[in-house]
Amino acid sequence: MSETSIPGDSLHPTSDTSVLLAPTEGATTTTPTRRTGEGGVDAGVGSTSLLVAAARAIETHRHDSLARDVYAEHFVRAAPACADWPVRIEQVPDGDGNPLWGRFARYFGLRTGVLDDFLHRSVGTGVRQVVLLGAGLDTRAFRLDLPSDCVVFEIDRAGVLAFKQQVLTDLSAAPKAKRVPVPVDLRGDWVTALTSVGFDPAAPSVWLAEGLLFYLPGPAETYLIDTVDRLTTTGSALAFEAKLEKDLLAYRDSPIYTATREQIGIDLLDLFDSGPRPDSAGDLAAKGWSTSVHTPFEFTRLRGRGPLPEPNDALEGNRWVFAHKSRP
Ligand code: SAM
Repeated sequence: MSETSIPGDSLHPTSDTSVLLAPTEGATTTTPTRRTGEGGVDAGVGSTSLLVAAARAIETHRHDSLARDVYAEHFVRAAPACADWPVRIEQVPDGDGNPLWGRFARYFGLRTGVLDDFLHRSVGTGVRQVVLLGAGLDTRAFRLDLPSDCVVFEIDRAGVLAFKQQVLTDLSAAPKAKRVPVPVDLRGDWVTALTSVGFDPAAPSVWLAEGLLFYLPGPAETYLIDTVDRLTTTGSALAFEAKLEKDLLAYRDSPIYTATREQIGIDLLDLFDSGPRPDSAGDLAAKGWSTSVHTPFEFTRLRGRGPLPEPNDALEGNRWVFAHKSRP
């Protein structure tokens, strides 16, 4: 994989902090329920969506925030599983010195801001279809200034999307663009679920797989990348996060994994798929996509804040990949 220039990064995130208005026609619903059970937010991989939401809540309230999401703390407060999690850095006894709510949460804030900008740039070129793969509690349809003719498809498991819908409905949150939840498991054949709710493979699209691929078995990741290629036309774009470590367990006692396990009971290493990973950036390049691969630390330096490398670092192998399709 090549590490080349950073695509159009800016020092400031382009996020929106406007608060909640009445529901609009754009919103579609999944079955409302707060208890989500199997496949929901309160256990397993679904709980990682709450971890990211809590991080975004903390980031939102920082004076030097890298991304803002006014909905994030509402998800955290609505889920019994995280009733005692902080939503402000001031609520963390050791503040920024806490590996989970300090450094790791900043990582998620940085990632959110960088991908917000990636999305804005794609939409700025005229793309009107957004696909959020493993959308979790991502509220980009609500908080970004997307054109009203934009459609945001949110793919995640049914329980996660149902919880999300209930919280957003309780807040009377109104999406800025048309929003289409697509409850489906990405380990299966999700193409029919997406195309049957209006996704048009003949029109350009932008896709995000933020904090997703390493939870999927290798073949499911390969299928996902092949499918994105098959469902996209010239002018489309994809950003995803990868982990390059050969042996994830080598970082088992790192401050980030240890704090996440001990403070909130989420063992990320148990949730990550342990099988071999495909080289998805390389696969896309072989299919004719232009790709660039970056460490998060590059963006920390560009934006003047965020995580930097440290010893025994669970973030050492993390890469953010940006891919553009310039030919059919
Ligand atoms: N992208 C969101 C964000 O950054 O806020 C959520 C990231 S969260 C770490 C990972 C998400 O991937 C969870 O919402 C989880 O439910 C979803 N996910 C993991 N495996 C999945 C699968 N097999 N099918 C659908 N969604 C999946």
